[in-house]
Amino acid sequence: MTLEELTAALGEMGEPAFRGKQVFTWLHRGVRSFEEMSDISKDLREKLAETYWVDGLTAARKLVSQADGTVKYLWELQDGNCIETVLMRYHHGNTVCISSQVGCRMGCAFCASTLGGKVRDLTAGEMLEQVLFAQADSGLNVSNIVLMGIGEPMDNLDNVLRFLELVNHPLGLHIGMRHISLSTCGVIPGVRRLAELGLQLTLSVSLHAPDSETRSRIMPVNRAYDVEELFVACRDYFEKTGRRISFEYAMIDGVNDMDWQADLIAKKLRGMPGHVNLIPLNDVAESPLKPSRRVRQFQQRLERQGVTATVRRSLGGDIDASCGQLRRKAMEQGREEQNQ
Ligand code: SAH
Repeated sequence: MTLEELTAALGEMGEPAFRGKQVFTWLHRGVRSFEEMSDISKDLREKLAETYWVDGLTAARKLVSQADGTVKYLWELQDGNCIETVLMRYHHGNTVCISSQVGCRMGCAFCASTLGGKVRDLTAGEMLEQVLFAQADSGLNVSNIVLMGIGEPMDNLDNVLRFLELVNHPLGLHIGMRHISLSTCGVIPGVRRLAELGLQLTLSVSLHAPDSETRSRIMPVNRAYDVEELFVACRDYFEKTGRRISFEYAMIDGVNDMDWQADLIAKKLRGMPGHVNLIPLNDVAESPLKPSRRVRQFQQRLERQGVTATVRRSLGGDIDASCGQLRRKAMEQGREEQNQ
């Protein structure tokens, strides 16, 4: 609930307006029950617990990387579905990567999150709790959020926008839009809607190929929203918001790592301030696609043509930290147990 909704709901229970703020503040500290709201009367706490619940997520598994301190949570939702959240520790602050859906229906050929299709959208509360509970459990202060976990945020945009309003709230986590990144596989109407709103978040676009043919092969979304139109929407986005777009590019051996593709990216991005983030492909067991061995060459070729290109540092390799991998394993284990 937003602060206004909470205040109204408490008002209906005969409570004064300040109670809404009180409960909102408690919730955003990551409490897991009304019991913990110690400055609220026992009576009201009990009344609240009769009608509402707080803890939508419970930790099914938690893995901590020995190598870099990355923490991965596998959460169980109230309906038994599972999602993942990753907490990464960087010099510039702690970043939480959250899921926006249970599964995904976008079908990217290299992605583990989409293998079982989409089960359902996450609510704004379920997105918020990923941040709150990861923070409370780890004892680490979260300063940045990336919507780069399981799911396609633009396929659940209403709930995502509601989540953004909640984390941005001064009485809540108060995380500034500039500390939030939203990643999309290129759902153009979503990009346009976000541009209209003019939010100051960072938009990441999963490009993965600059030419329609290759992109359609590895990303079915390209058949609905062609990369040529996507580049136009990105330009418009930059003009409307003044925010540079970050293009993600997972390097796949023999598919999207050729010199001519680097040249085409440079051509398409000319005159548009942006940044290309090259991602070493994470090997997904079910996929025949393999990591490229040309990442540095590709980066240099882009740089020589004036495109800012970085290579993403890989964290949490020892704990299946990339999106969808842990959930896949948990689902498989669940199936094996059922069959036994
Ligand atoms: N649905 C959104 C956000 C989730 S995925 C999107 O597509 O952008 C976050 C990023 O991880 C995307 O850029 C996605 O393409 C990338 N990704 C998915 N599987 C990957 C893999 N096996 N190796 C490297 N990056 C991958």
